[in-house]
Amino acid sequence: MTFGDLELTPLLDRHFRLDGGAMFGVVPKILWERRAPADERNRITMAMRPLLVRGERLMIIDAGAGEKMEPKLQEIYGFDRGERLDASLAAAGVRAVDIEIVLASHLHFDHAGGFTTRDASGAIVPAFPNARYLVNAGEWEDATHPHERNRASYFDENYVPLRAAGLVHFTEADSVVMPGVRVRRTGGHTRCHQIVYLESGGKTAVFAADLIPTVAHVDVPWIMGYDLYPMETLAFKRAFVREAIDREYVIFFEHDPSIAAGYIRERDRRLYVEPVSP
Ligand SMILES: [Zn+2]
Repeated sequence: MTFGDLELTPLLDRHFRLDGGAMFGVVPKILWERRAPADERNRITMAMRPLLVRGERLMIIDAGAGEKMEPKLQEIYGFDRGERLDASLAAAGVRAVDIEIVLASHLHFDHAGGFTTRDASGAIVPAFPNARYLVNAGEWEDATHPHERNRASYFDENYVPLRAAGLVHFTEADSVVMPGVRVRRTGGHTRCHQIVYLESGGKTAVFAADLIPTVAHVDVPWIMGYDLYPMETLAFKRAFVREAIDREYVIFFEHDPSIAAGYIRERDRRLYVEPVSP
């Protein structure tokens, strides 16, 4: 998708499954299962869709779960055998060594697992060895000091080796990454969770990360049970969805099983997503 001076390419790091109840928080199953059917273990199908950005620099936003997760967890999360990030990057004509910036929305495993990989000897090394990895300083602090409620999402092996390699650059909330690209802190999902604004040629696209993970989550109170601060999500999302409708943002849905990007529209006070084909 050409977007002014930016070129935006949604990637795929396979499909996986998470508990449907956890994905929709307080929304009852009789309502959410119409939008996201559950399997026999009550899991819904999702995807991991990092975004490739060609601008002044070659950048990837998030990197999926990667290959390091132990088989038992891969089974619990229903990792499929479909397209992986390396194949998706190759299809876009990019090698991992070409990536100059890796931008993290936050450090949960389904976003940061692909930041590192195992080399032939089994050692964990940066997956993008020539990149600088931009991580919000507060998110780093929380990820390296997990507590009982978020421990299952944070794995040191996904980011601590990057620090040792000297590749981590800490960022503050609401900073500019490169021309046309800036991050905005949402809080809510994690204390320093951030979304990415991509602005060029008078148009705006937003990589919404876990603020609006799938198109089934466009309604403002449809908020994940995983969110640590759901009232923060609610306040941010209420304002953001209004802004996205009024200004016709292209929204990238990182976890939607089939729709990578679309416009949020409103008709008769109901929200829906009009998909955009890349
Ligand atoms: Zn996620």
